[in-house]
This record gives sequence, structure tokens and C-alpha cells, in this order.
Amino acid sequence: MLTYEDALARILRGTPAPRVASVPLDDALGLTLARSIRAPVDLPRFDNSAVDGYAIRIMDGPSQPDETPSASWRVIGAAEAGRPFRGTLRAGQAVRILTGAQVPRGAEAILMQEQAQRQGDRLIARQPSRPGQHIRRRGEDLRRGVLVLAAGTTLRPQELGLLAAMGYRAAPVYPRPTVAVLATGDELQAPGSRLKPGGIYESNSYLLTALIRCAGARAIRLGLVRDVPHSLERAMRRGLRADVLIVSGGVSVGDKDFVRRVARRCGVRQRFWQVSIKPGMPVFFGRCQRTMVFGLPGNPVSAFVTFEEFVTPALHRLMGRPWRDRYITAATLAEDLRPSTSRRTHFIRVRVGSDNGRPTAQPLGGQGSHQLRSLAEADGWIRVTADEGPFAAGTTVMVKQSEGSV
Ligand code: AMP
Ligand code: MG
Repeated sequence: MLTYEDALARILRGTPAPRVASVPLDDALGLTLARSIRAPVDLPRFDNSAVDGYAIRIMDGPSQPDETPSASWRVIGAAEAGRPFRGTLRAGQAVRILTGAQVPRGAEAILMQEQAQRQGDRLIARQPSRPGQHIRRRGEDLRRGVLVLAAGTTLRPQELGLLAAMGYRAAPVYPRPTVAVLATGDELQAPGSRLKPGGIYESNSYLLTALIRCAGARAIRLGLVRDVPHSLERAMRRGLRADVLIVSGGVSVGDKDFVRRVARRCGVRQRFWQVSIKPGMPVFFGRCQRTMVFGLPGNPVSAFVTFEEFVTPALHRLMGRPWRDRYITAATLAEDLRPSTSRRTHFIRVRVGSDNGRPTAQPLGGQGSHQLRSLAEADGWIRVTADEGPFAAGTTVMVKQSEGSV
């Protein structure tokens, strides 16, 4: 049986290189740039006014603050955002100008509206003006040709705005992988239906599709299939068209666990099955051409943990994000912790609290792999490697906050 570390390493090695596509900005939030972006234009595109006021020629105005306003201009037209003034300013002339409007030829500064007095078409200033005052210069934010966004940058709202400002409708990124989810089990019924004897509500496909979206990928729900090999085969073949196929349930050693056998028949080559972890021991990973196939255990907590530990890193890699360890919150154990003795790596659900500003980790009761409630109460989990522990209260542990947090 593989160790946790070996299983993770095999998954990262077994993840195909990310594809590159041009994705519309509306769908690119959180994606990673595959190529560097140079500015195709100057930003601002042209000299424009930063305020509402008047475009003037400085020579015409008073030159000292205490000077009486001897100079005045005649307002000969208007420049609005998107509607430039076509003419050229000559001595003694001014143009009404609004924020964002192109500065007319011949103008040297903008006189703020608040510092101007206007009577009919006469304009008077009480303050002297500096050359260039309140003018946003062409190219002062970005010069055409400069490197603006490096390959590998995550597109946040601000990067999307910048791309649009440079005229991009779409960006060259690693696109969202499609992840098909299939739930199998004779006992499973859709939520909302009337339960038959022995039936339970199918919950894993909801949990898993939500996790897929949290990771930034696109979820495809393939629905529910019985533990019948030919039904499973038909559904899995459909799922193999996705970048990743996840099958929930049927991956263990029971009489009705057909996933591995059917996967082989579909042409999936197994890379591993079973990892010495708790929860989540029976977990399958294989490849069929480019498609990664995961068989996750049916127990909901096992499905969650194996997704976060094994599928999320693969999705990140498919989206061009660098691998990084997510056990990064240092917290103090709030009580003694005595992991059940076994040679497996344990994942223990904890609630993160605070003791005078220091994070604390409170192990939760109900750690069974079927106990969804403590999963919902948990903020994350700690990983206890085989033969580690017991730990006394006060020990510092590293917590992985669930990526499922939104
Ligand atoms: P299996 O992995 O198929 O042996 O299932 C292990 C346990 O998880 C059983 O108690 C199943 O009833 C339960 N289970 C399997 N699939 C699901 C599912 N999609 N939703 C909720 N529980 C499930
Ligand atoms: Mg089953």
C-alpha cells in the first residue's frame, strides 16, 4: 500500500501538462496567465483632464498667487469625455472640459472648476496655474510595449480590469478543466425523493461538484448509476471525455465494488489503488490518455479528504498553478490528542479558535468517515503521520484550512 506522500507524488507526476486557450475575460477570474502580456497601447491613450474645469493657456492667467485676477479667458467651446473639442486654443481662449475629455490642442493646464469664476463666456482665475496641472498624460500609466503582466500571474478582478483597459476581450490562460462526477451505489437516491427501505440520499456528487467549483474547475454531473457493471461502463465512457473523471463509491473490495474492473475495461491504466491514510484508504488513480480518473471512497468524509488531498493538487496543476503545501496555519492543540495507533496517516478534523490572538486547534468529536456533521463543523484538519503522537495539549500543529471555504 502506498504512503500518502508517494500517492501525492504519483498524482503530480501523472498530471498532464496544462493546455493553453484564449478565454473570454468574463470567465477568466482566478485563472493563470499562460503568456506574458505587453501593453499594445499607451495608457492613458491621450492627454486628458483629471477634473471638471477649463482647459487654458497659462500665459494668459495671473502669475502670482496674490496678484489680482487681471487675466481672463473667453470660453469658446466644450470638450467632454468621448467628444473632443476639434479646434486649437489661442491666446485668451479657454474650453470647458469634463473629466476624461481629451485635452484640446494649445491647452497647457486645466483650471479646476472650483477655482474658476465664470460670467457668461468670460472666465476668471484667482489662483495661478502650473503647466500640466490636472492633465493626465498619455502613457503615464503604461507605455506601449512594456511588460504588464507576467506569465504565471493569477487573474484577479484588478488584472481583468487592466486587460480590458488595454483592449483585450480574452486572455491566454490555462483554461478550467472539465471534471465529470459520477456516483455509484444501489442504495443511493436523489435528495428530495421518497426513500425506499435501505435507501439513503446521495450526497457525494453535491459535495464533489462544489469542491470542483471551489478549485476553479468546471463540474459536469453525470448522475447516479447502480452497481451494475454495464451501466457503470456506459457512464464512465461518457465521463472519460472530460479532463478528469471522478467516480464516487464502489472502489473498495465488496461484492458490488466494480469501479476498478470497469475502469480497466474502459482502457484506464491504474497508477495506484489504496493509500495508507485514514479516512480514505480505498482510493483509485489511473489515466486514460489525457484523462485522469479518480475512484474516491463512498464515505462522504473520505470523499472530501481524498478530493482535497489528491484531486485539488491535480486540478491546480492542470490550471498552471504551482504546487504549494496548504498545511500553513500554525495552531496550538486545545486538548491532548491520541491518534488511534495504526501505520496510516491520519487526517483529524479540527475547529480553529483563538486564545489571546493565537490560533488554537480543537479536535472535533465524531471523526468517523461517515460523519459529515463534524466535517461541516470543522475549519480544516491536521495531518498526523504514522507513528507520530500522542500530542499533549499546547503542542503546535499545522492546520490545513479547507479549500472548500468560500
Ligand atoms: P462504498 O465506497 O461504495 O463502499 O460506500 C461506502 C459508504 O458510503 C456506504 O455506506 C455508502 O452507502 C456510502 N456512500 C456511497 N456513495 C455515496 C454517495 N454518493 N452519497 C452518500 N453516501 C454514499
Ligand atoms: Mg457502494
